[in-house]
Amino acid sequence: MSLREIVLWPDPRLGTVCAEVAAVGPEIETLAADMLETMYAAPGRGLAAPQVGEMVRVFVMDAAWKEGTPAPMVFINPVLEARSVDLVTTSEGCLSIPGVVTDVARPAEVTLSWTNVQGARQTQAFSGFAAACVQHELDHLDGMVTLDHLSAEAREEAERRYAEAHG
Ligand code: ZN
Repeated sequence: MSLREIVLWPDPRLGTVCAEVAAVGPEIETLAADMLETMYAAPGRGLAAPQVGEMVRVFVMDAAWKEGTPAPMVFINPVLEARSVDLVTTSEGCLSIPGVVTDVARPAEVTLSWTNVQGARQTQAFSGFAAACVQHELDHLDGMVTLDHLSAEAREEAERRYAEAHG
C-alpha cells in the first residue's frame, strides 16, 4: 500500500464525471487499499478516487473510525437507489478543500447499491453522518464538490476564505 497525493480544488479533475469500473481486479484492489491508507492518514472519513487523480467510480468511507473501531468500506460503481424526502443540514469538510467547512442540506436517509472489492453487488441504507458522507463522495464521482451546493453568495464567501488560507 502507499499514500496517494490528494488533489486540491480547483483542480479540473474535481469537476469531471468519473467512468464506471469495468471489472474488479488487482488494480482496483490496490487503488482502494491506497485510498483507505490516504484517508486514514489525512485524517478523513471519506475519499473518492478523483481526489487522488483516478477518474473511476470508486470511493472509500469509514464514517465512525475516529470514535471507535475502524470499519473500512469500499464502494465501486455506487448507485443512489432511494433517498428520503426530509433533508438534514450537515457541516461538511473536504480533504480537497482544506480549511473550508460548508453547511450542505441533503436527504437524511439514502439507500445505495455498489460492488464491493470481492466483486459482489450489495445494497445498504445509510442515515446520520454516514448518509451525508456517501452523498458527498458520490458527488465527487459526478464532478461535484460541496461548494456546488451553495448559493452564489455563500460560495463567494467560502471561496474567499479558501483563497485566504491557501493564497
Ligand atoms: Zn470531498
